[in-house]
Amino acid sequence: MATAIVTGSSRGIGAAIALRLAKDGFDIALNDISEKMFENNDIIENITAQGVMCEKFIADVSDHAQCEQFVKDVKAKFGTIDVLVNNAGITRDGLLARMSEESFDTVIAVNQKSVFNMTKFAGSVMMKQKSGRIINLSSVAGLYGNAGQFNYSASKAAIIGMTKTVAKELGSRGITCNAVAPGFIKTPMTDKLTDAQKENILRLIAMRRYGSVEEIAGVVSFLASKDASYVTGQVIEISGGLSM
Ligand code: NAP
Repeated sequence: MATAIVTGSSRGIGAAIALRLAKDGFDIALNDISEKMFENNDIIENITAQGVMCEKFIADVSDHAQCEQFVKDVKAKFGTIDVLVNNAGITRDGLLARMSEESFDTVIAVNQKSVFNMTKFAGSVMMKQKSGRIINLSSVAGLYGNAGQFNYSASKAAIIGMTKTVAKELGSRGITCNAVAPGFIKTPMTDKLTDAQKENILRLIAMRRYGSVEEIAGVVSFLASKDASYVTGQVIEISGGLSM
């Protein structure tokens, strides 16, 4: 049985990706920063109902040492690491002039350094296996920028550079690395927007609706599948036509 790690997967897009990969037959290593996130939450039951193994690993993915231990624990539990989905992410929005150093550093640590941490350690396991799929969650904010998201856009643009670099460094070992760039997806992250912000956003989307978490999970499932074996270093925008 193949194993997939999905970071920040107690809820939102990460939980949908974990469930979809379970339906595809992967054993699932769930992750979140605190045990609390898994209380009153049926994600583990929903995944094991697909007939695969599932275990949660509590780790702060912005912390290098915790990621090293997390990857060791997953390898010890499941034997292989076949897919890594770097999904955990946060926002601390505000205009640049008023953005604190702390909110810049925190977003870069959680969204960007986490990809370095997890890819370094899980990538090393994949290199020995000579196979693996790494899928990173970027964002349209990383492709086009977004007012009020200097820190977030910087982290999501960096993920694109890291994705292409990993594709070039690890391609000869049978490892692919791609990114998806969601537009506006209905999750707790976007529920925080004001009604006026939501209306303005909808006017820019060709399909005039938000995306669903399942629509992101479907593309990640494709990138983790055999059908995507010759796709690497790519960024797939999933935005309902936001950028045309
Ligand atoms: P979400 O609902 O806020 O879920 C993110 C998860 O990551 C949360 O469970 C969060 O836990 C966890 N997390 C935060 N910091 C962590 C850390 N240091 N270590 C481990 N886990 C941590 O977000 P989402 O909307 O599903 O977004 C998932 C990914 O898609 C993110 O990378 C986001 O940037 C990207 N994305 C989302 C959208 C969108 O429209 N929603 C659009 C483009 C890209 P806590 O709640 O405890 O912080």
